[in-house]
Amino acid sequence: MEPLIDSFGRVHTNLRISVTDRCNIRCFYCMPAHDVEFMPRSELLTFEEIERVVRIAVPLGLKKIRLTGGEPLVRKDLHVLVGKLAQIEGIEDIGLTTNGILLAEQAPALYQAGLRRINVSLDALNPQKFEKITRRQGFEKVIEGITAAQQVGFQPVKVNAVAVRGLSEEEIVPFGEFARRTGVEIRFIEYMPLDADNAWQRDKVLFAHEIREALERHILPLVPCPGQDPHAPAAEFEFADGVGRIGFISSVSRPFCLSCDRFRITADGKLRNCLFSLEETDIRGLLRSQAADELIAQSIRDSIAAKKEGHEINTARFVQPERPMHAIGG
Ligand code: SAM
Ligand code: SF4
Repeated sequence: MEPLIDSFGRVHTNLRISVTDRCNIRCFYCMPAHDVEFMPRSELLTFEEIERVVRIAVPLGLKKIRLTGGEPLVRKDLHVLVGKLAQIEGIEDIGLTTNGILLAEQAPALYQAGLRRINVSLDALNPQKFEKITRRQGFEKVIEGITAAQQVGFQPVKVNAVAVRGLSEEEIVPFGEFARRTGVEIRFIEYMPLDADNAWQRDKVLFAHEIREALERHILPLVPCPGQDPHAPAAEFEFADGVGRIGFISSVSRPFCLSCDRFRITADGKLRNCLFSLEETDIRGLLRSQAADELIAQSIRDSIAAKKEGHEINTARFVQPERPMHAIGG
């Protein structure tokens, strides 16, 4: 069958599946502080519907899946979905991105179900700063979750830290030391315009090169890791003594759109060919109207074929998507 290829020749093998738009914290760059309108539960794709989409997309070349949200671990029995997806022949890799608060209690069941790769989002190693960013408590739980994931055997465990000017500078060196002490890779992600309050401004982005300079000045030089996946959004480095891995996702300063192999499905079943898409394809409508697999496959193909060359964050043409990050699935 034809691969999922767009008009710029990019082949799509990587699907991010959002399982909920709900979350147990309220990071300012992703959700509003109050009065969040969540999707009614009846609008969420069921596990069976998600499994069907994946089974349809595998013959189109889908190989890698990442479960996300909102906070995926607030979706009841997520390990059951992991188990279903892990059994699909052709799926080579399943990952999870979580805020880690419920991870310690769920890590064993997720591992048993077949999950191996976990990214935990944590923007600060200072508990007060964590509360300022997330507008909730839970720092200790996240640390417990990271430790539990390592103990259960997840490999790799990575930490994602959004880099925001005025907030993240003091966290850089502690994170570098944390990476060296724990073996967890720290990935700094440049703050993107996907917040609910439309408060993003370019001068609020702490750029990857600034973080790298601080790490090299205060710890050790960073050297690029060999054999990196050209489609991976993070540029990965190791400290010069081989202890501690650091990744940079320079979504704003060095967009990786030209090598993008990703597409997404929201928790309410809308296919998006880009994080920043302004258009969506209603897969849930097809699933619930007894559409044949071939029709759904064709919709996925059409959506990918219509993918734009890249996001336009750095141009005056940029329009922020209506959905904030928690409703898209990061
Ligand atoms: N709740 C889970 C979590 O926080 O890991 C999964 C969903 S979250 C939307 C996925 C990732 O997107 C997290 O690493 C989060 O830090 C990142 N993220 C959210 N909003 C962002 C923004 N405006 N800019 C950059 N990264 C963002
Ligand atoms: Fe929740 Fe993740 Fe968004 Fe933070 S980034 S509010 S943890 S969905």
